[in-house]
Amino acid sequence: MTEPISTDPVSLATALIRCPSVTPEEGGALVLVERTLREAGFVTRWDIFGQETGTPVTNLVARYGTRKPVLILAGHSDVVPPGPEAAWRHPPFAGIIENGFLYGRGAVDMKGGLACLVAAALRFVKQNPDFDGSILCFVTGDEEGPALHGTAKVLEAMAQRGEPFDYCLLAEPTCPDRLGTTLKIGRRGSLTGDLIVNGVQGHVAYPERAQNPIPILLRLLRVLLDENLDQVQVGRSTLFDPSHLEITTIDVGNPTPNVIPEQAKATFNIRFNDLWTAQSLAAHLHQRLKSACPENPYTLTFRHSNAPAFVTEPDAFTALVSDAITAETGEVPALSTSGGTSDARFFSQYGKVLEFGLVGQTMHQIDECVAIADLEALTRIFEDVLARYFLKEEKSSLSFKAHGNTHATANAEGG
Ligand SMILES: [Zn+2]
Repeated sequence: MTEPISTDPVSLATALIRCPSVTPEEGGALVLVERTLREAGFVTRWDIFGQETGTPVTNLVARYGTRKPVLILAGHSDVVPPGPEAAWRHPPFAGIIENGFLYGRGAVDMKGGLACLVAAALRFVKQNPDFDGSILCFVTGDEEGPALHGTAKVLEAMAQRGEPFDYCLLAEPTCPDRLGTTLKIGRRGSLTGDLIVNGVQGHVAYPERAQNPIPILLRLLRVLLDENLDQVQVGRSTLFDPSHLEITTIDVGNPTPNVIPEQAKATFNIRFNDLWTAQSLAAHLHQRLKSACPENPYTLTFRHSNAPAFVTEPDAFTALVSDAITAETGEVPALSTSGGTSDARFFSQYGKVLEFGLVGQTMHQIDECVAIADLEALTRIFEDVLARYFLKEEKSSLSFKAHGNTHATANAEGG
């Protein structure tokens, strides 16, 4: 007997990939998830934000149950563009399965993970229609884009309505090479700065009549690079990778070899731990450059950052999720705060959030693909998490036990 589309993560992931939902297009993906959840008894709601921009973002909130505790299962249905479609082994929105892998844009980031969340939730409520608590499926259509009218806005509205949650599990791809190896408990923050040095333009043969901004810019950048940000703040957080400043571009744009240029610019990005905020870091760097270069021929500005550093201190829920991962895969997941930003940063402002999902090797690439075995294993892990969280001791009666601990190895080559 084949499973209905809703509880089979492979059918669901395939159907989702066939919805071309490149940000900000909905592409049918959210509608499919909404219908699937509604038919299983979830009360669904559309939260639409950004109408004023002309490209409104649709977000789905679907709830099963009215009691506490509330566990959010979160994901996004939008995907990054496929790039040159002709370069793909299979068309990016066809959802083709070959040699145990499902191909398509979003296979791992994160229609695959989303399908696993939904399938697990549906299996769980089918087995336990009257469980003690609530599952809230939260799906945004604006994660890969500017992320202005997605998760951040929905959470703000939920807080205003007085809808708290206890934990959030977000199914971003977290595992570098094997399912089960990495559980994300936080992320470093991100801040981008622009440094501009103004000089005086002139003839290279008469440097005394000009002031070249390039050596000053290089000196200032050296000052920034030479500082270990983790030694500035006492009590460096051990849950984070080292803070890091990376220069991303230096621009002078001077095409003429006998002219000293007027201006030189550089941009840098910093990934920082939770001992810093964007504000404290910006203030510190202003101070540092000011003392290194008191004559002050530069301007330093910072772009708006909505990416604070955050960490969910490991607790009983972390242990529960980790145990569910180990039971399925045999792996003891590393607790990590690595990687770029994700919507977890928004959830972290209202409650505790963990991220666990598929092997991310092919995300955002040509030929993005996911091992079928991983989709099935991840669904069982999520189902186990729900059982451990909501049922406590009663979990032995669950359907996933029948599958046993079939450790998925098909992803070893990562497609
Ligand atoms: Zn993603």
